[in-house]
Amino acid sequence: MKNTLFILLLLPFHVFGMDQVTKEYPELTDFFESSEFKRIPQREIGIGDFYDNSVFAATLFEISNIAMTKRVLLNSHYIDRNLITAEELKYIICHELGHLNDKKIFSQLIPLSIGLGVLDIGLVLWTLNSVRKGEWNYLLKKIGISSCLRIAYSFVLAKEARNRETFADEYGINITKNKAAAFSILTKRKQTHENTKYRFNFLNKIKNLFADHPTEDARIAHINSLS
Ligand SMILES: [Zn+2]
Repeated sequence: MKNTLFILLLLPFHVFGMDQVTKEYPELTDFFESSEFKRIPQREIGIGDFYDNSVFAATLFEISNIAMTKRVLLNSHYIDRNLITAEELKYIICHELGHLNDKKIFSQLIPLSIGLGVLDIGLVLWTLNSVRKGEWNYLLKKIGISSCLRIAYSFVLAKEARNRETFADEYGINITKNKAAAFSILTKRKQTHENTKYRFNFLNKIKNLFADHPTEDARIAHINSLS
């Protein structure tokens, strides 16, 4: 899961059907038709053209008319057996299905995200109030307090987003029972953003505190610890 803004950027031009997946990965046909897969609720899956190829898949919650549509979109770029194996793709799909079936996304993550927007508006209005009144000596103090509050809130929000990833990883392993496929796809994911790393490690550590995904190393370690 990415934050809402990012998901909007990811919205694909076209959404293709699953036949492209089964054409490229005929060995997954059995899985999609198995009772094991059909028991998983909310299994709407499509393939989209993504803008960002560091993302393998995304889970979308769209409100159309009055109903909420939930679906998993796979990045068409990766529907390629030279890039991703069938077992890895199966893990990706099951991880995303974990997001679709995670009740805490609605009860915790989305309310917290909305809260950040409300907090931002409140802080801007509060700060602007000093500008309007010409209380310049308060202004700097207010900017300082606002920044601290926002950083603290972002930290809590990011931590909750990472918890949701951990839930989806556990869900994926529960269905696929294939830790090796999870490790190999997470290693590939790590490689896709290796070049976005900072040169100084302490900066990476700070970045990780505000990241919406745990590091791949942390995810692999957690999956390893599952029985
Ligand atoms: Zn995820």
